[in-house]
Amino acid sequence: MSKSAPLFNRIALIGVGLIGSSIARAARTQGAVRSIVATARSPQTRKRVAELGIADQVVETNAAAVEGADLVIVCVPVGVCGAVAKEIGPHLAAGATVSDVGSVKGSVIRDMSPHLPKNGHFIPAHPVAGTEYSGPDSGFAELFVNRWCILTPPAGADAKAVEKLAAFWRLLGANVDTMTADHHDMVLAITSHLPHLIAYTIVGTADELQTVTQSEVLKFSAGGFRDFTRIAASDPTMWRDVFLANKDAVLEMLGRFNEDISALTKSIRNGDGKALFEQFTRTRAIRKGIIDIGQDSPAPDFGRQHPDLNQPLPKPYAAEED
Ligand code: NAP
Repeated sequence: MSKSAPLFNRIALIGVGLIGSSIARAARTQGAVRSIVATARSPQTRKRVAELGIADQVVETNAAAVEGADLVIVCVPVGVCGAVAKEIGPHLAAGATVSDVGSVKGSVIRDMSPHLPKNGHFIPAHPVAGTEYSGPDSGFAELFVNRWCILTPPAGADAKAVEKLAAFWRLLGANVDTMTADHHDMVLAITSHLPHLIAYTIVGTADELQTVTQSEVLKFSAGGFRDFTRIAASDPTMWRDVFLANKDAVLEMLGRFNEDISALTKSIRNGDGKALFEQFTRTRAIRKGIIDIGQDSPAPDFGRQHPDLNQPLPKPYAAEED
């Protein structure tokens, strides 16, 4: 797809943090849209977005942003998606596609749908790509390259509108998959939400240890702890909202996790080396499987080539899946 054939005329980005600003940068780099209008909650962020020059227009309100836009992407924490939908609903252009990037889909659909007009298309989405950084400075155009973007169109969604949004994400470098919101929330509970909860827990536990000084925690952090600290640095607002919004699926996975960790505890207590070895061998194979399907690599991300864009990705840090 060349820059002379934008998929959308005017994209409105509500929220310009890591994800919104990465969409703005990628959409412009790829010529996916004719113009980009952006807004954020605070004057500081709006000012910064204007300084960065990543949007053609920065406006003050969510309602003003969506005027005349044929694609609206809501890029705010999932807990405020409903309130944003209520603000923008009456101002949407007829036939506009409204989407989001929230890490939970069931709650977003529940909260946003009632406020969106029937003459448009609501197609929720979740780009499974991110880092532990927040704000408009943290985004970069290559964030979505070779990452998955999951669409969860409601039953009866317009197939053409779904395909157009899928084409948009593919142009930004993502691979697109489609599933129900319930299935999405169950899958992401185990692949993303539970790992974040474990990271938040373990870093908190280490921090509370009286006999291990903070300098020792930092000094010996290469022993596995360092990766947890990176994940546990993720945005508190975003992740608070994720756990509140995906409560049922996370509790289900947490229950299973607790059973499994009890079994491992028992193996250690009983000196059952065979059970430990078998478990660790099984999980090692899973890691190899992830590398084999190209969702991670033993080498840093910035050496990767995207088959469609055919250009190296000069990225300062590796993308962490959300
Ligand atoms: P972020 O960097 O913290 O940015 C959030 C943006 O939303 C900020 O620009 C904020 O404005 C704006 N905002 C908050 N409330 C608003 C409101 N009521 N009206 C308008 N703008 C509002 O967050 P992010 O990491 O981009 O995450 C955004 C969404 O993407 C979340 O739903 C998250 O679940 C999802 N997601 C995140 C990741 C990840 O790894 N971070 C990956 C995939 C999906 P101010 O700066 O003015 O407060």
